[in-house]
Amino acid sequence: MQTPKKIAITGSGLVGSLLAIYLKKRGHQVDVYDRRQDIRTMNFSGRSINLAMSKRGWKALEIIGMDKPIREIATPMDKRAIHVPGKPAYFQYYGKEGEAIYSISRGILNKKMIDLAETEGVNFIFNSKVWDVSLPEAIIYTGDNEKEEWTPHPYDLVFGADGAFSRIRHKMQRRSLFNYSQHFLDTGYKELSIPANKDGSHKLNKNSLHIWPRGNFMLIALPNLDGSFTCTLFMPYEGVNSFKNLDSEPKVEKFFSKHFEDVKDDIPYLIRDFFKNPTSSLVTIKCFPWIYEDKVALIGDAAHAIVPFYGQGMNAGFEDITILNDLMEQHADDWQTIFSEYQQARKPNADAIAELSYRNFMEMSSKTADERFLLRKKIEKHFSEKYPGKWIPLYSRVTFSENSYAEALQVGDFQKKIMDEVMQIDNIEETWNSEKVENLILTKLSNEQD
Ligand SMILES: Cc1cc2nc3c(=O)[nH]c(=O)nc-3n(C[C@H](O)[C@H](O)[C@H](O)COP(=O)(O)OP(=O)(O)OC[C@H]3O[C@@H](n4cnc5c(N)ncnc54)[C@H](O)[C@@H]3O)c2cc1C
Repeated sequence: MQTPKKIAITGSGLVGSLLAIYLKKRGHQVDVYDRRQDIRTMNFSGRSINLAMSKRGWKALEIIGMDKPIREIATPMDKRAIHVPGKPAYFQYYGKEGEAIYSISRGILNKKMIDLAETEGVNFIFNSKVWDVSLPEAIIYTGDNEKEEWTPHPYDLVFGADGAFSRIRHKMQRRSLFNYSQHFLDTGYKELSIPANKDGSHKLNKNSLHIWPRGNFMLIALPNLDGSFTCTLFMPYEGVNSFKNLDSEPKVEKFFSKHFEDVKDDIPYLIRDFFKNPTSSLVTIKCFPWIYEDKVALIGDAAHAIVPFYGQGMNAGFEDITILNDLMEQHADDWQTIFSEYQQARKPNADAIAELSYRNFMEMSSKTADERFLLRKKIEKHFSEKYPGKWIPLYSRVTFSENSYAEALQVGDFQKKIMDEVMQIDNIEETWNSEKVENLILTKLSNEQD
């Protein structure tokens, strides 16, 4: 049991609203501040984004019995559908039978979670931007704008769940010994949409994450419950194939006809959406420490924003909460220890998933179109099905397991070395499921154990 505290969370995003439910269930008084209006009263336009929920996300929901209502708004995707020009779609299963990632609209999920949090008794204060925080006293300051006098709100504890450009972190950044880095990709993204057929059915296979890999740019599409797909075009800001170059309607038409011929006609509002929807940026943010004594802690994107190519940003933020919850269970009122162990446990994992996510852009946008890459994946899958105790592919470690991201990165690098050797074998295209290949992998694995 914990002694009830008065706790403020800045940010009613996915991580802030889930954390609020956990803290409320532990008996604390929880106020959640958000600078934006209540998302439940907003129409989405162009920034709705579909997220892939996987094991770590589901676990955080299951612990507090929230997985069932969320499963109702999720569509399972058990495979990638890879669309290469001039060929039929190629389906690559993500994991074992029964394993899938789940497509959920970020907006719908967020609305649902705020509803569930309110039912638990969490107090939401919308249209209320947090401008500043006094770290030693856990006082947050809200106000209508930067220049007017702000209103102080004293708390026992403050959580900064205010996203990649966190105001709470901003205050911590001004302190000595606070490390911080941000790195923007030269690739941005834009949302487009494939509406449902007239009868409400999906135009493409609905249980797949569709990818049109085109080298340094790609289009992806994730299914929605209403039969539509939310598409995201990832592309460099500048260069031959770039957002900068697609500056007129004919150019966009021509570009889509050339590179996405098989799907272009399924995107009827291409021109409208292309010029109406913003081109958004992708950033990796790292920082440390994540806490100020036993008063203030960062969580979710505020502590570790990552690029979306492993579909793990929200999942990692939800896992922060699972770990924090375990520590609250162990250390009760010792918030100093809870906070300190929380950041020690999570920081190496946040760095690992940042690295894996960064690397995965190349895998999605380019390698999935490469025959040898697909063969490599086939060999790994074949071997891991035969020796499940010896080999879990990296994607499965990240997506379908609860083992740490840091371990996934380390083991993944080791497995990559082995697979690099396997792919050097003469005629690997013919011998991929032979004893020779199997024995090579087994020998390499046993050498490592020695
Ligand atoms: C294109 C794209 C695709 C993605 N796909 C996936 C995926 O498939 N799977 C996955 O797990 N993750 C994915 N992510 C990442 C995921 O969206 C984020 O990790 C997740 O939304 C982070 O949640 P959060 O609550 O920490 O931050 P946010 O969702 O950013 O919420 C922060 C909240 O804080 C509020 N706020 C900000 N500043 C203030 C302030 N000063 N005062 C008060 N309130 C404030 C904001 O209004 C907002 O409501 C994707 C991200 C992108 C961009």
